[in-house]
Amino acid sequence: MQTTIEKLLGSIIHPELEQDLVSGGLVEHIAASEAAITITLRFPKTRDPFAVKIKNQAEQLLQEHFPAAKVLVMVKEGAAQKRPEPKQHTTTGDITKVIAVASGKGGVGKSTVAANLAVALSLLGFRVGLLDADIYGPSQPKMFGVEGYLPDAEQVDGVDLIVPAESMGIKIMSIGFFIRPTDALLWRGAMAVNAMKQMIHQTKWGALDFLICDLPPGTGDIHLSIIGELKVDAAVIVSTPQQVAVADVVRGVEMFRNEKVMIPVAGVVENMAWFTPEELPENRYYLFGKGGARKVAEEYGVPFLGEIPIVQSIMEGGDAGQPASAIDPRVEEWYRSIADKLVGTVMKNG
Ligand code: ADP
Repeated sequence: MQTTIEKLLGSIIHPELEQDLVSGGLVEHIAASEAAITITLRFPKTRDPFAVKIKNQAEQLLQEHFPAAKVLVMVKEGAAQKRPEPKQHTTTGDITKVIAVASGKGGVGKSTVAANLAVALSLLGFRVGLLDADIYGPSQPKMFGVEGYLPDAEQVDGVDLIVPAESMGIKIMSIGFFIRPTDALLWRGAMAVNAMKQMIHQTKWGALDFLICDLPPGTGDIHLSIIGELKVDAAVIVSTPQQVAVADVVRGVEMFRNEKVMIPVAGVVENMAWFTPEELPENRYYLFGKGGARKVAEEYGVPFLGEIPIVQSIMEGGDAGQPASAIDPRVEEWYRSIADKLVGTVMKNG
């Protein structure tokens, strides 16, 4: 499959370089499975006038040859290893997009959504990292079955880097690797901020298409300090349909829109949207009300990315160290649709 893809890409000529995409070195990354083909093209010149045309041409050609696969061609510009300058600091490695997952309040499933979104993006063929910054309840190690992981340090060019855990092809770094659940909250706050800084700047991520950052719940100082350290490209806000939770979505949107923050909100996910009992698969019970998060997204002009019902496998997957989108096809489908929309909005924003 890889060879066919390369052959196809090798048939597309860049008119100005007078070379095909492969020999011209424009193909940075190919991720291919029966279900999804994701190609990253890198154009050395920024604002290459042929980029869009070539992207469309490649997508069309690949789609014709692999009609069953979901084809996506991503375009990067400029020399590799160069991220757009963050507001204040850099992260290590070559990360295309950093997406923060936030929620107005705890318990709405923010961490679960972050984990499943990471899995869905990875299944689409992207290289994904997950940064668990939820200092109040880091749950990613448990969700990915890497609890107790002790990060190693590795020297690269004289700098100490921290090696992330890896599960299901996703690189995972969690504040939970550095603090104990029994640490007092006050102490934890101070320690956590320092540990966060190290995690942000010293993790050996390597090249990633997406880094998903699981923020702590709420909108507070800790968010500002994380956002100040890490250049976040877009935010996803998770809510349940409950009125109290929906009201907090507004606060989340306002936080990201604040002039000192200015991070585009890529969308809202409504979690626990309804409940369907196994024995009545056609029935939907709207335990927390109906469509509240969708409505508030519309009111605030923020994309609505999708809804996820209450499903036993989601809860069990989280407890068993394997997010449900990796094991339950229904859940995978819901999250794939959310991931698709997210990729669409984030890439459109450049
Ligand atoms: P938060 O990060 O917002 O505090 P979590 O992601 O830790 O919330 O989720 C809280 C609990 O709800 C967890 O036990 C999780 O497994 C469960 N949960 C989250 N979303 C769902 C869902 N759609 N269906 C069933 N259980 C869910």
